[in-house]
Amino acid sequence: MERQIDLNEISDGKLYGLDDMVRADCAGCAGCSACCKGMGSSVVLDPYDVHRLVTGTGIGFEALLQKHLELNVVDGVILPNLRMAGDDEACAFLNEEGRCSVHAHRPGICRIFPLGRLYEDRSFQYILQVHECKKGNRSKVKVKKWIDTPDAKNYDKYVARWHYFLKDLQRIAREDEEGTVAKTVSMYVLRTFYLTPYNAGADVFREIETRIQTAERLFAIG
Ligand code: SF4
Ligand code: SF4
Repeated sequence: MERQIDLNEISDGKLYGLDDMVRADCAGCAGCSACCKGMGSSVVLDPYDVHRLVTGTGIGFEALLQKHLELNVVDGVILPNLRMAGDDEACAFLNEEGRCSVHAHRPGICRIFPLGRLYEDRSFQYILQVHECKKGNRSKVKVKKWIDTPDAKNYDKYVARWHYFLKDLQRIAREDEEGTVAKTVSMYVLRTFYLTPYNAGADVFREIETRIQTAERLFAIG
């Protein structure tokens, strides 16, 4: 979820890159699952998140929507997010032991927490959110290690690319007063980037990039 923020209020005021050390390591969370509850619809998934979940769990996107995910409008475009359910508003992937049942395939926002992303100039840097994690005495860890994602450099490039592509689509959707373009954009995004599988063993970032370029031509953006 994107927010307008005062950096000094929510973070330690520093910006971090993949090779920087940051005080984010909560040592396996030790019985805490606070950030897996009560998040509303804020944990929005990008196409790579869904690709990881689908290939990791063997459950298709439409089947995941039955229980684990839901769809919501984000700035005019329909996108999937983690579903929070039950009295404690827990993520549907949180198991009875209070652990993530899809830890190896968890979405990007979960991986970087309590880090956040500050987007600027078609790129982003990481920030350390100081009021989010319940564990006080976190230790230092390299950002690249903390986000636990292979090919981290290309992953970060993809994250920024997707973010700004989506912003362009959201602008088109918002400008459409009748809502027909917004609906077309949403259906296109869901079908092209989330429902249509990526080739097994292929470079997923490259495949997403190809689909982005096709969409940019179609919607005359970029
Ligand atoms: S996917 Fe896993 S880490 Fe992310 S909120 Fe759900 S249970 Fe927590
Ligand atoms: S709040 Fe911090 S310690 Fe608790 S589950 Fe989230 S990351 Fe782990």
